[in-house]
Amino acid sequence: MAAIRSAGTSPEVALRALMRKTGLRLTVNAESLPGTPDVVFPSRKLVVELFGCFWHGCKKHYKLPAVNRAYWVAKADRNRRRDQRVERQLHRLGWSVVRIWECDLETAPERCLRRVERLLAKGAR
Ligand SMILES: [Zn+2]
Repeated sequence: MAAIRSAGTSPEVALRALMRKTGLRLTVNAESLPGTPDVVFPSRKLVVELFGCFWHGCKKHYKLPAVNRAYWVAKADRNRRRDQRVERQLHRLGWSVVRIWECDLETAPERCLRRVERLLAKGAR
C-alpha cells in the first residue's frame, strides 16, 4: 500500500487510487448528484462517500475543540443532518451509498476495498 500511504497524498486521491483497483469505470466528484460524492460507480449505481473523521464526526476520532464548544456542537449536528439528508436523496434516486471513513482508509485500505467490491458484486442495495 506504499502508493496509497505516501506522504502528501490527500484522502480523496488515496480513495480514488484504491477504487480504481476494482477495474470498473468510475466518476469522481459527481457534481450532478446530491452532495457531490467523491467516487461513483455509474454501472452499479453505487456511491462511495469519503468521511473525514473531524467534519463527519467519526466515533473513534472526533474530539470537540476546546474553544467555541457551542459552535462546534451545532456545526457537527448540522453536518450530521446534512449527511443523512444527502444519503436519503441518493437512495430516492436509486443509488446505494457506502461510507468510507478517512481513518479506515488510512489503516485498513484493503478492508475498505473488499467492502466496496462486495457491494459492487451485489449490484444492488
Ligand atoms: Zn476516524
